[in-house]
Amino acid sequence: MKIVVDHIKDTPVAIHFDEPVEKFPLLSGMQDDKICSITGNIQGDMTVTREYENIRVTGRVSAPLGLSCSRCLADFTSFIDTSFTIFFRKEAVIAATTEDELELGEMDLLSSSYSGDEIDLTHEIEEQIAMEIPLKPLCNDACKGLCHECGIDLNTSSCSCSKEPVTLTFSALKDFKITRK
Ligand SMILES: [Zn+2]
Ligand SMILES: [Zn+2]
Repeated sequence: MKIVVDHIKDTPVAIHFDEPVEKFPLLSGMQDDKICSITGNIQGDMTVTREYENIRVTGRVSAPLGLSCSRCLADFTSFIDTSFTIFFRKEAVIAATTEDELELGEMDLLSSSYSGDEIDLTHEIEEQIAMEIPLKPLCNDACKGLCHECGIDLNTSSCSCSKEPVTLTFSALKDFKITRK
C-alpha cells in the first residue's frame, strides 16, 4: 500500500484498496495471538492530497471481525469502519522547521513523516483498525456471562450458585472453553 509522492500533483488522488489480512503484519499478528479473527478483506477509500512537500491522507478503512465475548465466550461478528486523517511531513522539511513555524492546528493532527519518494501506508492503515479492536469484546453490553461456579451460560440458563456474574481473566476463559458444551 504505497504512494509514490511524485504521482501526487495538484489534484487529489483517490485510492481504493481491498487486501487480505496477510498484507498487514500487525493485524495478522493479532489474529495469530487469538485476539480477534479478521473474517474478510481490509478495505479502504482514501484521498491523497499534496500540500507543498507534505502529503495528507484522508479516508476510511473497514474490516469484518470475528470475536469471542469476554463474559460468555460466545462467538459473534462485528465490523470496524473508521475514518482518519494522517498528515505526512517530509523529513528534510521537519528538520529545518521549528515547531513555532508549523501552522496552528497542524500539531493536533495525527502525523507521521516520510523520506524518499514513497510513503508506505500499510502500518498507518493497520493501526487505525487495531485501535478499534476491543480488548474485552462483549456480545452485548448486557451480557450476563458465565456462572463462575458451574460455568453455565447465564444468558440462556440459570443455576443455583451465587448470582453474581464475574468477568473472568483470559487464562480462566481458556479452561472454561474446553469444558463448555
Ligand atoms: Zn456474552
Ligand atoms: Zn452456577
